[in-house]
Amino acid sequence: MPGWLKRKLEILKAKYSLYFVIKKYEELFRDVGFNRYFLDYEKVLMMIERMGVQSAKDRKFKDPFLWCGDGKKVLFYNPEVHPEELVIKLGHELGHLICEHYREDFMWIKSAHRVFSNRMEKDADVIGYLCWIPTPYLDRVRRYSWDIDEVVKDLSNCDTEYGIIYKNLPVRFQIYQEYLKADEEVSRVQNMIKEFNRNVAHGGER
Ligand SMILES: [Zn+2]
Repeated sequence: MPGWLKRKLEILKAKYSLYFVIKKYEELFRDVGFNRYFLDYEKVLMMIERMGVQSAKDRKFKDPFLWCGDGKKVLFYNPEVHPEELVIKLGHELGHLICEHYREDFMWIKSAHRVFSNRMEKDADVIGYLCWIPTPYLDRVRRYSWDIDEVVKDLSNCDTEYGIIYKNLPVRFQIYQEYLKADEEVSRVQNMIKEFNRNVAHGGER
């Protein structure tokens, strides 16, 4: 690959680091359906377990938190939180894990989020929202150019709560736009690389 193309890719990797993390885990968690299908919170717990973290129920706390001690990593969560909200909250914790925000040398405690930067919190949030509504669903929504009320109606069933959907949908739409932008730019460069490799394979000029 010529230097200028390699540099283009490096720049995109720095600019859209979260996008590349998402792509990697879309593959690694393909069987679970991460960012492909709607997930229930048990599926999110499965992915968290694959990251080497056990889970345990604890009704004292509203928000889940990661704890580390005695050589074990445990995520405590409250099973009484609304299942949809739990998907977003547990997905946020999954986000901290897959973005490698936890260092081995600091205590994993409830207050850990306070030592994370805004950027880290935002990235973890994105993963939570992807667990809640997968991108392919929003691809379909875009095709029919539904508005927010129509999407809320479409997403509602006996298990959902209007409030949760209304509150979170605008953020999810914004994440979708950013994902799309990264996807377009990265695909363009990847196609250029493919094109270059095809030319090389056919003995063409660079
Ligand atoms: Zn956090």
